[in-house]
Amino acid sequence: MQVEIVTIGNEVLSGRTLDTNFAFLARALEEASVQVGWHTTVSDDAGRIAEGLARALERAEAVVMTGGLGPTPDDVTRSAVAAALQRPLELDESVLASIRERVSRLGRMLPASVESQARVPRGALAWPNRLGTAPGLLIEHHGKPVVLLPGVPNEMESLAREFLVPYLRKKTGRAVESVTLRTYGVFESMLEERIGALPEKWPGATLAYLPGWLGVDLRVTVSGDDAGTVGQVLRRACGELLAVVRGVVYAEGASGMEEAVGELLIRSGQRIAIAESCTGGLLAKRLTDTPGSSRYVERGFVTYSNRSKIELLGVEEAVLEAHGAVSAEVAGQMAIGAAKRAGVEIGVGLTGVAGPDGGSDEKPVGTVFIAVADPAGHALRKLRLIGTRAAIRERSAQAALDLVRRRLAGLPLEPSLDP
Ligand code: ATP
Repeated sequence: MQVEIVTIGNEVLSGRTLDTNFAFLARALEEASVQVGWHTTVSDDAGRIAEGLARALERAEAVVMTGGLGPTPDDVTRSAVAAALQRPLELDESVLASIRERVSRLGRMLPASVESQARVPRGALAWPNRLGTAPGLLIEHHGKPVVLLPGVPNEMESLAREFLVPYLRKKTGRAVESVTLRTYGVFESMLEERIGALPEKWPGATLAYLPGWLGVDLRVTVSGDDAGTVGQVLRRACGELLAVVRGVVYAEGASGMEEAVGELLIRSGQRIAIAESCTGGLLAKRLTDTPGSSRYVERGFVTYSNRSKIELLGVEEAVLEAHGAVSAEVAGQMAIGAAKRAGVEIGVGLTGVAGPDGGSDEKPVGTVFIAVADPAGHALRKLRLIGTRAAIRERSAQAALDLVRRRLAGLPLEPSLDP
């Protein structure tokens, strides 16, 4: 099935709001084995909305629109679609009741205009919105589904997950399952070389290489008519894939490297302290992004100046003078100092040149040293990263998390595809 996604809103068209709703929907629909053939963005204008819908209905088998379902005068999607499809707006009593129930539960005075959201195009099925007042709407128009979702991202996402994806899955009559293996430390081309023609052995499966700043995700998707067979093929495919790339896989699914590290820390009962220079707190931020991380994150030190490295971490002045702030020796002393001062088992030290200035022939921009100190000793990695200042900082934090993960899991310190 080929679908068109139409996102609606002046703020999206002006570039002020990033169209994350499109990105979310495209990914969600892919999981339902539905192909997104087109994506259009139109302004909050009834004429443009009608034009966008008409074009989408000409070429696509289903249309998903988001935005402009609110009660304010600039939210015109509902009436524009009603007019375009010649389905007058009619009061849906059950939607009205749920809006009133929500308003009274919140104990707030909402303008009467909120109730305008209970007027839906004739024949539309309303999908209840748990997080807001505008329901999702499904209109089967001459055999083609037209779906309207609110623009507020969390409302749109919850309606898409709960109603749209299951609805489309049922409609396509296909069973679809996918698994994502997250890799770090090797290029996409190396993974491709290693994996080769393996996916050809998996009936109904596709393998997508999804490179990002922080690694390459491998997503296996299997579709077919029979759910049992799809599940079997997926399990086999994941097993065969893992057998060749295990050395660089840090997670399955959506979790990040920080969650993998968190789990290992919890399992080992150890706690961590972080001392960072060029990442300015990013590593501590990543580690504390995970709910419950207070169980294993003791503290972080942002030691940008030499003085702070000496005062807060006990780095020796002579070592700073002899080797420079960006050096293996200083990273090592930062890691040991962090663990010692915080009174925990694991310390991380990170120092580097994030650029764009400050590089030298000996230590060009992107030179980063990471050290991990733990009861067994300490580990060090030197990196030569490329990219903008932001990319170098992000990649440094990711590399540091990977080094901690490898150390905790007893893996080789360098990411490698070698068995
Ligand atoms: P409301 O009831 O709040 O009026 P609505 O369905 O009318 O909801 P919009 O008014 O179009 O939705 O958008 C609400 C907010 O959702 C916008 O201010 C914007 O921050 C966000 N938003 C809208 N469209 C998108 C989009 N395509 N991608 C990301 N965010 C969006």
